[in-house]
Amino acid sequence: MTATIENLKRRLVEGLQVVTGEGILSGSGHLSARIPGTETFLINPRFAGALADPKDICTVDFSGKRIAGKGPIPSETHVHTAIYRSRPDVGSVLHCHARYSILLGLLDSGLIPFNREARIFADGVPIFHNSHGINSAGLAEQMVEALGQHHAIFLRGHGCVVTGPGIEGNCISAIQLERACQDQLLLMSFTTPKPLADAARGRVTARLENPYRAWPFLLYKHKVKSKTKIRASIRTLEEGEHY
Ligand SMILES: [Zn+2]
Repeated sequence: MTATIENLKRRLVEGLQVVTGEGILSGSGHLSARIPGTETFLINPRFAGALADPKDICTVDFSGKRIAGKGPIPSETHVHTAIYRSRPDVGSVLHCHARYSILLGLLDSGLIPFNREARIFADGVPIFHNSHGINSAGLAEQMVEALGQHHAIFLRGHGCVVTGPGIEGNCISAIQLERACQDQLLLMSFTTPKPLADAARGRVTARLENPYRAWPFLLYKHKVKSKTKIRASIRTLEEGEHY
């Protein structure tokens, strides 16, 4: 178990660096990962995620109590506890105050899945009508109800929450959501976007669990690790194999 937790902490720190490099996280925002088979999860403490080292990552139980790590934990940790409690399919949660997600969450139309980036959110991204931080268990329960089985939710005028099966896939989802929001806002200055007619191939969980192309590229782009180390960790598919 210790090896599992150390591995998750290292990957969480790498994820924090990538999403910060992509403009998703800044001095605020947090990323967490469920510790498999337990009612606990890991989360970065209450300072800029990009500055966190593995030893700073805190362990929190499903009642929202910090049980390991120096802390302090973010006031919006409730977002994470409420989602892990009600969604066994979720292995990682990200909450951020990303610029284009905030703008798009203010539109009544919501996200329109009209391109490749938005396709993984083709089943819709609900909008939670509360612009305050989710800083209480009661508010978090309301948010989880609004989230339902969706993969992300906008917090109107505040930011968004993104969920995924694991750390890397969740970070990629958050990056794609922010880019989809940006693209929609750009397109709306010329025309009214329409959803893709063939959005059937929406979300491929296997691809998010092993993003063997996108994630190594992002680690390289943001200089999180050496090229040699990144190359060594790639788990590519066999030739002719598809997700
Ligand atoms: Zn927030």
